[in-house]
Amino acid sequence: MSTAHCQLSIIVPLFNERESLPDLIGQLYLALADKELHNLFPEPFSFEIIMVDDGSTDDSCTLIGSMISSKPELRLISFQRNFGKTAALSAGFMAATGDLVCTIDADLQDDPFAIKEMIKKMHEGYDLVSGWKQKRKDPLSKIIPSKLFNAVTRLFTGITIHDFNCGLKVYRKEVTRRLELHGDMHRYIPVLAQWMGFRIAELPVKHHARKFGTTKYGSSRFFSGLFDFFSVLFITRYLRRPMHFFGMAGLTSSLFGFIISLYITLDKILLNKPVSNRPILFLGILLLILGVQLFSTGLLGEMLSTSSSKGSSFAVRETLNLTAGQAKKFGSAD
Ligand code: UDP
Ligand code: MG
Repeated sequence: MSTAHCQLSIIVPLFNERESLPDLIGQLYLALADKELHNLFPEPFSFEIIMVDDGSTDDSCTLIGSMISSKPELRLISFQRNFGKTAALSAGFMAATGDLVCTIDADLQDDPFAIKEMIKKMHEGYDLVSGWKQKRKDPLSKIIPSKLFNAVTRLFTGITIHDFNCGLKVYRKEVTRRLELHGDMHRYIPVLAQWMGFRIAELPVKHHARKFGTTKYGSSRFFSGLFDFFSVLFITRYLRRPMHFFGMAGLTSSLFGFIISLYITLDKILLNKPVSNRPILFLGILLLILGVQLFSTGLLGEMLSTSSSKGSSFAVRETLNLTAGQAKKFGSAD
């Protein structure tokens, strides 16, 4: 097995996609044999295809294994069980040696021949080019929630792309190294990347209907998607300053609690109204306690983020004239 780095790493997350694999791998090899694509890289062009099997229970793995002997660029990482697409992409990113990294779904819905156009777009000076399934070939039950998801994400993040969750994306390796993904966060990769200051573009790509097998995402995706949405919002806005979030909420809650308690107390002192039979009393107490709790959560968050902030809170685009040792600290040694 070669250890040298290559120019383009293709990462394919797959979960029970056996029927699609022969066509997919055939099409990938065809698309990657294109001279026009090679010309976009310095000579000689080299690539690898990293198949990440996310715990398939069909014989996807055996099939890939049997193809490897005749295709030296093909690699396989096979998970013990199904960990989800985000984990599969993370494993692919860890293994990739390419200067550019491209992800593509295994179900033949994404078009391998679009990779060339996306790399051309990268050359305009972007760090991440994300596909846009402009004419999406999926059932309405998928298209509608997805439109909603994209609209909400656009609204809250201010990022103007149409399709956050396209399987087809091309990254500079620096982006994949900086991304820390968990949960089902692959849907928010453009948000995380933009937050780190990387330049993002979108390119319409051809989309195909699923030919084999079924979608791996049922209705549970809406809930996990919602939770991940809050995580991403929190990470991109408050990760390094949790007190700004919890402190504000705590202060607001305490303030209302205090006003209510003061009002009841004055009522008792000035007008001699009874206190114990008034429901609003409980609201006042509740808000005061909640406020203190939120505040303490913020303080704990601050302590955690201070003591665990070994990673830098910035992303460096390039360095000039640093020694190799200095440059390495900023991840830009090569
Ligand atoms: N996938 C995966 N692990 C999972 C679910 C999906 O690796 O737990 C892969 C799947 O095999 C496919 C890609 O992620 O290559 C996208 O999944 P799918 O086509 O089911 O999603 P959809 O296109 O319906 O959004
Ligand atoms: Mg699909």
